[in-house]
Amino acid sequence: MSIFVDTAARMQRNRPLRVAVLGCTGSIGTQTIDVCRQHADKVRVVALSVYSSTQKLVELARELGVGHVAVSDESHATDEVLQNLPQGCQLGMGPRSVVELATLDEVDCVVSAVVGAAGIEAGLAALRAKKTLAYANKESIVVGGDLLMPLVAPGQLIPVDSEHSAIYQCLVGERDKDVRRIWLTCSGGPFYGRTRQELASVTAADALAHPTWSMGPKITIDSATLMNKGLEVLEAHHLFGVSVDQIRVLVQRQSRIHSMVEFADGSVKAQLGPSDMRIPIQYALSYPERWEAPCDAVDWCAEPGLSFGEADEQTFGCLALAREAGRVGGTMPCAMNAANEVANEAFRKNRCGFLHIERVVRAVMDKTDVQRVESLEQLRECDALARRQAREVLLEVS
Ligand code: MG
Repeated sequence: MSIFVDTAARMQRNRPLRVAVLGCTGSIGTQTIDVCRQHADKVRVVALSVYSSTQKLVELARELGVGHVAVSDESHATDEVLQNLPQGCQLGMGPRSVVELATLDEVDCVVSAVVGAAGIEAGLAALRAKKTLAYANKESIVVGGDLLMPLVAPGQLIPVDSEHSAIYQCLVGERDKDVRRIWLTCSGGPFYGRTRQELASVTAADALAHPTWSMGPKITIDSATLMNKGLEVLEAHHLFGVSVDQIRVLVQRQSRIHSMVEFADGSVKAQLGPSDMRIPIQYALSYPERWEAPCDAVDWCAEPGLSFGEADEQTFGCLALAREAGRVGGTMPCAMNAANEVANEAFRKNRCGFLHIERVVRAVMDKTDVQRVESLEQLRECDALARRQAREVLLEVS
């Protein structure tokens, strides 16, 4: 297993954990700040980045007394509100300044809540600077896992994605070679049980009424197409060093079981709990300790039951496409992810239909000339080409 668990390093810390939150105004970023507020005696936020939400950035910097902030989108450099940053707070502009936050001396742990493949550079920088990485940025593992994972020391990368946090927790105290299979759970998404014919006419607004987890708009659409689960299969493949075919997707409609690990002797360990992202976020910060709960506990006596089922890859083609990309490997997941990011956004803006998303991904994968992953530069080129191709396909299909 590439990520196996080492409790030694963090046990020795006798001061608050100093955290940089990258993407602090998104869904995961906001919930990370909540956890930091609740455990202010154990965690101190020292750096924050946003893509463009300067107003919110200034409010958080003032509230938390943060010394370093970065704004990725340079067109916001002249926002007047930035004058109100706290005294002495260092402001960086542009994507490079976000990466720099990840390497600051005063940072122990980087929470990367950036959405999309754009977060890969900050992830690489944090690992090279020997920071602990609490990683919510699944796309960058899917795309750049071949570059990121060889840099990871035991206990250095702790997943924030709820399923991967669950798997991580199940693996504490276990040996890599005893793992037979991972059962990656899936709520089924908002369109569970619908036919292809029905899916042809669903809208982004329908998808955004997601039943269980509170999430940002991009991941909510990915949850509806099951591309989110496909990305998570590839994420687990990289994080835990298991093959794509050792990972089974299990529909668990109640979202109570957050994933399971099956061992050589047939025993299965599962992690259960409330469907609240603050739990895996907090675990990534508290590990190997456990802190007071950030939300109400489940009353298991009052639970109606747990159901299990197989994911429907025929109806939700994106899951099958992601698995295929994972089996092919190399630059294929990069092209697949880029095509999905473009089609996902087009669907959110009502510029294409729901089923067009998988058509775009399929078409771009068919055009992709797969190479071994060797550099960030190569991934950037593959990503840019796939985005161009995805836009061309969109023009044809919509
Ligand atoms: Mg997840």
